[in-house]
Amino acid sequence: MDLPPRLAKRLRSARTWIALGVLAPLGMLVVSGLMLLDLRRDAWVQAEQTSKNLLQVIERDIARNVEIFDLSLQGVQENLRASELDAVSPAMRQLVLFDRSATARDMGVMLVIDERGDIAVDAGALPPRKGNYADRDYFRVHAERGDLGLHIGRPLVSRLTGERMLPFSRRISKPDGSFGGVVLGTLKLAYFSRLFDQLGLGREGAINLYLRDGTRIMRHPYEEADIGVNIAGAPTFRRFVSARSGSFVGTSVRDGIERHYAFTQVGDLPLVLNVALATDDIEAGWRAKAAVIGAIVLVLCGLTATLSLSFGRELRRRDAMQAELATLSRTDALTGLANRRRFDEVFETAWASARRTGKPLSLLIVDADHFKRFNDRYGHAVGDAVLKGLARCLSASVHRPDDLVARVGGEEFAVLLPDTDVEGAERVAGKVHAMVGTLVVASAAIGAGSVTVSVGLAGGVGGAGVEAEAVYRAADAALYAAKEGGRNQTRRATVAGQGAERPASLRVVQA
Ligand code: GH3
Ligand code: MG
Ligand code: MG
Repeated sequence: MDLPPRLAKRLRSARTWIALGVLAPLGMLVVSGLMLLDLRRDAWVQAEQTSKNLLQVIERDIARNVEIFDLSLQGVQENLRASELDAVSPAMRQLVLFDRSATARDMGVMLVIDERGDIAVDAGALPPRKGNYADRDYFRVHAERGDLGLHIGRPLVSRLTGERMLPFSRRISKPDGSFGGVVLGTLKLAYFSRLFDQLGLGREGAINLYLRDGTRIMRHPYEEADIGVNIAGAPTFRRFVSARSGSFVGTSVRDGIERHYAFTQVGDLPLVLNVALATDDIEAGWRAKAAVIGAIVLVLCGLTATLSLSFGRELRRRDAMQAELATLSRTDALTGLANRRRFDEVFETAWASARRTGKPLSLLIVDADHFKRFNDRYGHAVGDAVLKGLARCLSASVHRPDDLVARVGGEEFAVLLPDTDVEGAERVAGKVHAMVGTLVVASAAIGAGSVTVSVGLAGGVGGAGVEAEAVYRAADAALYAAKEGGRNQTRRATVAGQGAERPASLRVVQA
């Protein structure tokens, strides 16, 4: 199938290929850049969704377990109010006070502590184990305040079992409202670590559970030193407590790693839970993909640019070569003057212009006299040197930019003089004779005046009704007359009867 001519021309243009070499890679870069940005956004959306889901699952689990745990504590709190309880045996009292949840897997201890801090009833032992808890924070806050409800204390190490625990406590109030001790239940921190450990969060991902006062209860991955640390002053923590739930990207005060934090308050409890995925982990998959895609796109861009640009350069070189060939094909190799072909083209155009504008146009045909003799006497090389000298003389005889000197035959030249009348042309012819009179070829000891030329002049022609060829023939005939007349002279042909109404005829007169 043939391409439309305009498109075919475009495809042959060096500029098109150079533009393509720049624009196509740019386009590729922009498109792949947008695509990579989109992939990156996808990675983040997915990470945010994952964090949110994890957060929801963990939060529900903790909230439910704490609720059940608290119901047990409330049960003890209520049962203690029953006046009959003093009358029953310690074994019965233990049975009545504590339900079976006191033996749950992650339950630490469940105790009733009296107002002096001593263990009064122990869900795990009969008689109760010995111990005084008057120094514990939860004991002191309940002693001071009666309206706390469920109190969750800082993580501590159990004096009875040596395990790390989170203490939950409720106040026991006497009938008169005064402090009567606390009901204490502890939850093993192992519960949280088991819950968190099931979750894969990437290399630098983490889950944290804090008390609302900034104390860290548990962190996954677990490190002993993290537990109980207070980060209330950290910018990240301030954001955790600024809303019930949310998400943001921030830098950890613990290890300086940038993470995406999704956080929430746990139920209505004074607990803050967060799932933190490291930015590096979120983007790791994307970065690997981006590196591969980026490398491929860059190589393709480089290839496209190189190929298009070198193709464009090649086209440009070809154009320049064609232009040079075109010039060469219109130039005479020996003298550097315009050759016959160029002369014919320019003459045709100049003639058409003269006909159109009515301005006069003159033509000189210049032929070296007895040139054969130079060749015979001095050899062809000297003959060539004389021709070159003649070319210089002719070129020096004209000055206007539109004048054209051409070598139209072996030792025959044409001088085309647009916008020039007969008088002007005769002046130029005179100049030609004068210049040629000065021509010297030193290498062959040819002195000034040795070389002469004969000139046929067709002058001042223009307007309609005369053909260019007739003008050339007229000048040629005038040249013949000059040769006949003894050479080294100019003969003028007037193109008689110029104009459309009368046919062109020629009269040769002596200059
Ligand atoms: P006339 O005065 O009648 O013009 O005599 P002429 O010898 O100049 O004319 P003729 O046409 O008989 O000879 C022209 C000679 O010009 C023939 C050839 O040897 C010579 N000639 C033509 N072209 C070249 C060229 O390129 N180099 C050289 N050296 N000589 C050339
Ligand atoms: Mg000659
Ligand atoms: Mg000749």
